[in-house]
Amino acid sequence: MKDKFFEIENCQRCNSPLPVRILSWFTDETICIKCSIKETEIKRALPDCGKNYEGCGYIPKNEEALS
Ligand SMILES: [Zn+2]
Repeated sequence: MKDKFFEIENCQRCNSPLPVRILSWFTDETICIKCSIKETEIKRALPDCGKNYEGCGYIPKNEEALS
């Protein structure tokens, strides 16, 4: 069985083309660098840099912590 990670051509979050594929920290989506940077910002705002959120299946809403 082929790994679909290498077949995905567009970011699964914002749909932009993927020169670089990055696996989301929070979900099993393949995402672009822009979305990854956003995730990094969210992770930084979370307790333990989001360690406990790895693969949690959703993007934690943490606008309060980010503002
Ligand atoms: Zn994206």
